[in-house]
Amino acid sequence: MERSARLEAFLERTRPVMDLGRAAAVLGWDQNTYMPPGGAEARAEQTATLTGLVHERLVSDETVHALEALEEEVKGASPGSFAAGVARVARREIDQMRKLPGKLVSDLARASSLAQNAWVEARAQSRFDLFRPHLEHILDLTRQVAGHLGYQDHPYDALLDRFEPDMTSAQVDRLFDQLKARLVPLVEAIRPRLDRVSDAVLRQSFPRDGQFQLGNEALRAMGFDFQRGRLDTSAHPFTTSFSRNDVRITTRVDEQNLAYALYSTIHEGGHALYEQGIPEELERTPLGDIISLGLHESQSRLWENVVGRSREFWQFVLPAAQRIFPQQLGGASVEELYRAVNRVEPSFIRTEADEVTYNLHIFVRYELERDLLGGTLDVAGLPEAWNAKMEAYLGIRPPDDAKGVLQDIHWSQGSIGYFPTYTLGTVLAAQLFRQAEQEEPGLRDSIARGELVRLKEWLNRRVHAHGARYTLPEMTREITGRDLEAAPYLEYLEGKYRELYGL
Ligand code: ZN
Repeated sequence: MERSARLEAFLERTRPVMDLGRAAAVLGWDQNTYMPPGGAEARAEQTATLTGLVHERLVSDETVHALEALEEEVKGASPGSFAAGVARVARREIDQMRKLPGKLVSDLARASSLAQNAWVEARAQSRFDLFRPHLEHILDLTRQVAGHLGYQDHPYDALLDRFEPDMTSAQVDRLFDQLKARLVPLVEAIRPRLDRVSDAVLRQSFPRDGQFQLGNEALRAMGFDFQRGRLDTSAHPFTTSFSRNDVRITTRVDEQNLAYALYSTIHEGGHALYEQGIPEELERTPLGDIISLGLHESQSRLWENVVGRSREFWQFVLPAAQRIFPQQLGGASVEELYRAVNRVEPSFIRTEADEVTYNLHIFVRYELERDLLGGTLDVAGLPEAWNAKMEAYLGIRPPDDAKGVLQDIHWSQGSIGYFPTYTLGTVLAAQLFRQAEQEEPGLRDSIARGELVRLKEWLNRRVHAHGARYTLPEMTREITGRDLEAAPYLEYLEGKYRELYGL
């Protein structure tokens, strides 16, 4: 690719920033996989130092001058060009960073590194009081962040914008209201019929090694490149990337349930394909980074649910599963597995929730975050508020805080304003798959034959190739010609579950 001197000068300034960010990611991966508990405090300082350096370099006058020179040069260039994309994405990031004092950025990094360890302990003991002071501190720092970034209507907008540029909480509210109007009645209609679908076949003893093997086979079929990535275990499954050629994913195995590790592996695998699919020429540039978490989540949800919970997927994967678990699955049918992995049941843990109730968990968190930030709820009242909302949306009350307010890692990481991106991604996944089916006739048959790479290659071309060039609303229009809409998702979900539950 032809690169001008100004573009090259700017990239020269930002490459070390990218490297520092990726180095911080290595420390984060290690913290959540292999680091012994004693490493916590030193790790918090190391993370704060790296994050501080990223900030310092990004907001420095030299970087800003190099960016201004580049912007001058790309004036009038096609917005889709590489140089214009770099300038636009970098400007957004640098403007945000410049609004935040370096000390606040380091303080938040240190606080969240410490809070993550406190959260692990609090969750293990189901004691919210151990986590509470950490969350209070993080919330205080996060409010300061929102104040510095600025917002029009609600502090939530400033935070959401960091994870989902171009979207406001008012837009989220509109979409969520449309979803609630159809999902809550759907859950109500299914509730008296829960017994119509059994997942007994999944609830046998499935040794850990076999589950790992099955997850690996699914990843391989999806086109995950093990030369450029690896799978480990952690308390909370996640994906992180040190470069497009080194993408790490984790899973968690429950030996009494076949679905948990398989679907979390497929989910993180969907994230990983995105990271591995970023074009080589975008590596170590602002366009090689993540711009929208909703977009990222659309990839994991597409694989986990639309593909992984389809009949076609089980036509392909059941023989492999039977080979690994002959005693447990030898007599099972595709239909039995298809029904089992789609069983609906209001439950406490978001990451184990079925497709129908999943978004209700997101509504709970989104509303609580808004109340916390808006000052109408304080941290002390959070466990009770959580339980009350669970009862309102799902009709169940968590027996303890580990199964309630303490279950997610996000708040300990300082990620407030993040949860809506899960539902945005879920909705977009259905819209993307509909588009893929139009452009790739017979796609479902390919999945049944185990040719999952056909979908991966479509995603490589249509989504991953753009890197961070487009925000979620822009990418949705670019690929589907339409805005993000609830309809494809609701039609997919209602069609599938009406059939399953005989509604
Ligand atoms: Zn995800």
